[in-house]
This record gives sequence, C-alpha cells and structure tokens, in this order.
Amino acid sequence: MDLKQLISKNANKIQPDVISSFNSQVAGIKDLIPLTLGEPDFNTPEHIKEAAVQAIRRNESHYTDPQGIPELREAATSYVHDKYGLDYDPKTEVLATAGVSEALLCTFLAIIDPGDEVIIPTPGFPVYEGSVTVPGGKPVFIDTSDNGFKLDPNKLKQVLDEHGDSVKALVLNYPSNPTGVTYNEAELRALADVIKDYDVLVISDEIYSELTYDHNHFSFARLLPDQTITYNGLSKSHAMTGWRVGLVFAKPAILSEIFKMHMFASFSITTNAQYAAVEALNNGRNDAQPMKKVYEERRDLVASGLKAVGLDSPKPEGAFYIFASLPESYKNDSMKFCIDLANEAHVGVVPGVGFGPGGENSFRISYAASTESLKEAVKRIQEFVKNHE
Ligand code: PMP
Repeated sequence: MDLKQLISKNANKIQPDVISSFNSQVAGIKDLIPLTLGEPDFNTPEHIKEAAVQAIRRNESHYTDPQGIPELREAATSYVHDKYGLDYDPKTEVLATAGVSEALLCTFLAIIDPGDEVIIPTPGFPVYEGSVTVPGGKPVFIDTSDNGFKLDPNKLKQVLDEHGDSVKALVLNYPSNPTGVTYNEAELRALADVIKDYDVLVISDEIYSELTYDHNHFSFARLLPDQTITYNGLSKSHAMTGWRVGLVFAKPAILSEIFKMHMFASFSITTNAQYAAVEALNNGRNDAQPMKKVYEERRDLVASGLKAVGLDSPKPEGAFYIFASLPESYKNDSMKFCIDLANEAHVGVVPGVGFGPGGENSFRISYAASTESLKEAVKRIQEFVKNHE
C-alpha cells in the first residue's frame, strides 16, 4: 500500500520549514557556530522558574480551565493594557495556547474555508504559509524587498482590490522574523487607513514586541480593535521558548472560535507553565530589558561586521535577526551561499529563499547567541566573503 496516498492534499502541499530543516542539515558539521534558530541564549529568570517549582509542589498537575487559569488571563490582559494600551476582557477576549504557534494554526482552522486567501508580506515567518494551507487557504504573498522589507500601504490596497472578497485576513508581524524591521505608529496608521475599508482580519503577530530597540512598540489593535487579532507570548520576552506559553487576544466573536480549535488541539496548556507565566507577567514586566541591552550590542557588532565586507541589511530595529544581502558572487542563490558557508567557514545561517518571495538574495543570521561566538562567526564570514570575491 502506498501510505503517501492516504495523506491529505493540503498536508502534501506543505514543505517542512526551512529554518528547522536547514538547521538539521548543517547541525553535524564539526565546530559549527549555529546562528540558525530564533532561540534566546538567556536562561528563564529565576523568579519565574521558582513560581513553576512552587506550583509543582502544590500539585498543580491537573487539567486547567482550557482558556487558561483566571490568574493568567487577568495577568495577560493587564500586561498588554499597561504596556501597550490595549483593552481586552480577561473573561472573553484572551486565550492561553501552547506558544503563538498553536494560536496561529487554531486561528486559521477557525477562519479559513477552502479557497479563502490570506495576504502574507514576505520575506516572512514560514509558519504562516503552512498554517494557512492546512485548512485549504491560499497564501497571497506581497514581496516587500523593494520597500526596505516593509509593507507599502498602496501596494496592499492594490492587492486587496485585485483579490476582493476572497481575502479573509492579512498577516502583520513586527518586529519581523526574519528581517528585524518594525513599524512605527505613523506607518501602522497608514496601513490601518487602508485596511479599515475592507472586511478582513489582521493577524498581528507581536511576539517580539519587547525587543524593539529605537522606539516603543505600538500595537495594531489600538487602531482597529474589532478587526485585529493580537498574538504575543513569553518565548522571546522572558526567554521561555521551551515553556510553550502563547497568548491570543481578540473580540469574543473571534476568540470563542479560536478557543474551540484549541480545545481539540491541546485542551489546556501545561499547568505549571501557566503559573510561571503569571509570575512573569505580573512581576517580571521588565525582564526583557537587560536582555535587550545585550541583544542591541550584539546587533551592532554583527551588522557592522557584515557591512565591512559589503553585506548590507535593513536597519534591524527589533527581534534578534539581521537579514543581510548576499555577496555579489552568490547573487540570488541564498541556498548555495548558506551551504558553502556552513561547509567551508563552519557558520550556520538560514537561506533567505525559505522566507518566501523577496528573500532569495539574503540570509538570516540570528544574534541570539553569545557575544564570543558572534565575534568568531563574524570573523569567519568576513574571511569567507573575501575568499569568494
Ligand atoms: N511568530 C514569530 C514571528 C516567531 O518568530 C515565532 C518563533 N520563532 C513564533 C511566532 C512562535 O513562537 P512560540 O510558538 O514559541 O510562541
């Protein structure tokens, strides 16, 4: 029997995401400095770990309210209120998920009928394309590489007009993975001015909000609260990727449907992680600050090191990625560049082509690694580039 035949057409359409597959491809190389994953190298702050330990000791080991324990929903809505000026009701407008990853898939399962379209600015985080495709949705990519990797409101309007009623949603992710660019308030207002005239949802993935370097993060839901679904979580702000805590905020009509999907996907998230998250959101509101300071120094170190050998990038204003252009000798072949760099210089970075249209002439380097490894990696990249002129 050909077991492959039993797999759904939608599942078959999806390729494994380039970040993990490229990471596994190069992981075995001796002495490799891996700058592939978006994984903070900091440890979770002690007070947060302690809250989880206490919860385990109290035998908080059962299923919880599937929407998230009430303390977590209170802590989450009050956190986004105080930090970003958002007003969400802890009873009906927030849901705790196993990372933003689960929240995204549950959202698309809830909103997409086969053939519905979702606009995804690219280069972008590959999970959006996969999660849209599972329920039969069609990604519509807007290549932003000719506009400093930012979505241009006029181009957005043009695509919305061309695609009409088939468009269900638009993805915004800022600060962006993979480009590190973000939007300021004026730029978001210009986008909102276009979006307000269309019946589309905005999937606003703000997971890197606490890692915004040059200005305060501005949440899109402040502009179009009814249309916006806001995603945040503790993975990046509190160095808690492995705890799997994501948060999704939306109006009750939408949130209740995402919640239904979450009940099938995971029911409730890990109980002790929820208590850890309560501690992080109530008493660790500035935990990201010392990390951010270090990330900023590393960003400058890597960006200037790459620039010195002609590898330019848009100014990385947030997250912990630099999306640098390829050397002339590798023009538009990011896969070959990354394979050669890994084999010859023993540095792992991700080919830009994996992030969709507009990424083929770039590579993503994550600077969430120790300053020492980054210095060595920059040296190796510089030598590699000089050897391939
Ligand atoms: N969105 C973006 C833009 C990301 O970079 C990531 C993690 N790499 C996620 C969502 C998912 O994060 P998590 O599931 O850990 O909350």
